[in-house]
Amino acid sequence: MTSKITLFQHGTGAMIVPGLFDGTIDIQELLTHGDTGIGSGDGLDGESIINNGTPLLIRGDGSVTIADDHFTVPFVNAHFAAYSTINNIQINDFQSLGNYIFKHHQYQNILFSVKLHGQFEWVKTRSVFKQSKPYPSLVATAKSEKRFESQHLSGTVIAYYYPDAFSKFAVGGFHAHFISDDQSIGGHLMNFSGFNGDLGIQKFKKLDLELPIDNADYLNHDFKNDDIEAAINQAERES
Ligand SMILES: [Zn+2]
Repeated sequence: MTSKITLFQHGTGAMIVPGLFDGTIDIQELLTHGDTGIGSGDGLDGESIINNGTPLLIRGDGSVTIADDHFTVPFVNAHFAAYSTINNIQINDFQSLGNYIFKHHQYQNILFSVKLHGQFEWVKTRSVFKQSKPYPSLVATAKSEKRFESQHLSGTVIAYYYPDAFSKFAVGGFHAHFISDDQSIGGHLMNFSGFNGDLGIQKFKKLDLELPIDNADYLNHDFKNDDIEAAINQAERES
């Protein structure tokens, strides 16, 4: 049962900042590490979410497709779902989600996943278009992102929480992706309001970190001059 307490991570948040966007793990291999997850896409070709073993890709134009086995991603988290679920809970917005969890659990300093499934009054997401080499930085890429909003819909949020102390390494705080039940909207979750449904929380004891040891761009890159924390905060947290 080790797998239920292990969070898998391929790549790092730090790699994405200077534009190391090559996909270095494919979906087929990724699914051996979990049936649930969120990540980016090769060349930042959209935002991905794995829900109940189905890998979905939300592209820059908002279209949703099933990612095929050979599609690759540069940065992703995955795990095997074993959430402790509370039914029929109401959460006002993204901020309130964190407030609720930390009020009831002493989880500030651990790794955990959150899954919401139910009705939302409003959801705002974003995705990005595939970039080509030489890749721009994350901040430059984020300027061309597209945002999507929808009201009165049902859907799923999958999120991972890393303590702020780990923010160079992943995305400090909550990193969440969304997919609506009808797959009409999805992507990187910016905010939501009026959630009513089920809240699942799963904590991890172990982190299984995999680095792209065969990727020349990664091996050659000098991270010294990248202001990683500032760039991740700017690109990931703006709402
Ligand atoms: Zn994201």
